[in-house]
Amino acid sequence: MFDNLSDRLNATFKKLKGRGTLSEKAIDEGLKQVRMALLEADVNYRVAKKVISDIHRRALGQEVMESLTPGQQVIKIVYDEFSTMMGSAHEGLNLGNRVPETVMLVGLQGAGKTTTAGKLALYLKKQGKRPFLVPVDLHRPAAIDQLKKLGKQLGIPVFDSTQEMKLGDICRAAEKMAGQEGFDTLLVDTAGRLHVDDGLMAELVELKKMLNPVETLLVADAMTGQDAVNIAGAFDKAVDLTGVILTKMDGDARGGAALSIKAVTGKPLKFIGVGEKSTGLEPFHPERMASRILGMGDTLSLIEKAQESVDLKKAEALEKKLKKNQFTLEDFRDQMASVRSMGSIKDLMGLIPGVNKKMISGLNIDEREFVRIEAIINSMTPEERRSHAIIKGSRKKRIAKGSGSTVQDVNKLLKSYTQTMKMVKKFNKGGMRSLKGMLPF
Ligand code: GDP
Repeated sequence: MFDNLSDRLNATFKKLKGRGTLSEKAIDEGLKQVRMALLEADVNYRVAKKVISDIHRRALGQEVMESLTPGQQVIKIVYDEFSTMMGSAHEGLNLGNRVPETVMLVGLQGAGKTTTAGKLALYLKKQGKRPFLVPVDLHRPAAIDQLKKLGKQLGIPVFDSTQEMKLGDICRAAEKMAGQEGFDTLLVDTAGRLHVDDGLMAELVELKKMLNPVETLLVADAMTGQDAVNIAGAFDKAVDLTGVILTKMDGDARGGAALSIKAVTGKPLKFIGVGEKSTGLEPFHPERMASRILGMGDTLSLIEKAQESVDLKKAEALEKKLKKNQFTLEDFRDQMASVRSMGSIKDLMGLIPGVNKKMISGLNIDEREFVRIEAIINSMTPEERRSHAIIKGSRKKRIAKGSGSTVQDVNKLLKSYTQTMKMVKKFNKGGMRSLKGMLPF
């Protein structure tokens, strides 16, 4: 996502960076490129014009002209203005204290409403909430079945709606059941149509009156670009949205919808869908997204992903071991498993500052390599895992045979483990300072 925009902006910034002074002409030329890059990314025309004029005004001000690094200052201004354009700070779900609170998901057919209902339910469950999925698309029995199936997979209860029921009856029964069973959040998956139409809007308005939801979120397909922005406008007019979720941001979407939806509709983009799986949902952080677009990476999201999949107690025990240089092959294997549980290595690398898609596609990361490494470590005896130095010729042969690999593979693993250990030792000696240069700030 945003790769083309990112590449174009970085090419422009390269020209600005490193200059001792910046003339007005150079700034104008640079901003012309930025504007073209935004339009090519399908950013709304008026939004692009406004953001460029804001950047221009600040770039000609004192903060740049009197700076020793004017190019860097311009980039900082672009970053600030991009974040503001997208909404400044993350706006999550504003769930209140009523039990149950209701979140209504609206949107066109195929936008990803049902998938997103499942994702949100899982997201809330991870936060200790007790979500209850409620399908109300009575026009399409397949949509009801899809949500029931999804709920079953995720272990999240789904109200047993049927096509014969009336909307009002479903709403009342679902609320009553939530009260009885202690479900605190109703996630209502509403009907979609192929286009915005009056019948659909009337049904949603009616439903909203009955449910009185705390959040009315539009689910829109990011691939449709400015159409998504227009659709948001139409839904907002009818049902007064509280926010937007853009799906399919993992695809070829140029990003224009994400960049302009807040500026055009005034409604915050709260989450983005980044995959078909139920874990493919990310809270949207404008400042982090601006950082990603400008090629500065997204270290905070990376850290959060790590925190999500790391068991704190285990992490503390590991830290102690690392400090005492007692990090064994067993720990190496466990660490690798926990990194893998965060997602594909290539996706994670995309969050690292300075890493762009081209660099990643050039890398030959074979995820099966991790399976092989795990198999090799599993074929060792506990003693060998604790003291790798005893692994010599005949042991290597036995381990290779046991894990279906070769002695070279075993050697390769031992080498990468000893290198990791060297790094850890260096870190223990020098503290954070020894990692200087690896961090973006
Ligand atoms: P609905 O008609 O609005 O309920 O849409 P669905 O939830 O049935 O989704 C339509 C299609 O989009 C399905 O094939 C989903 O797997 C897919 N989809 C939904 N969200 C995402 C996403 O974030 N990324 C990708 N790649 N596909 C998605």
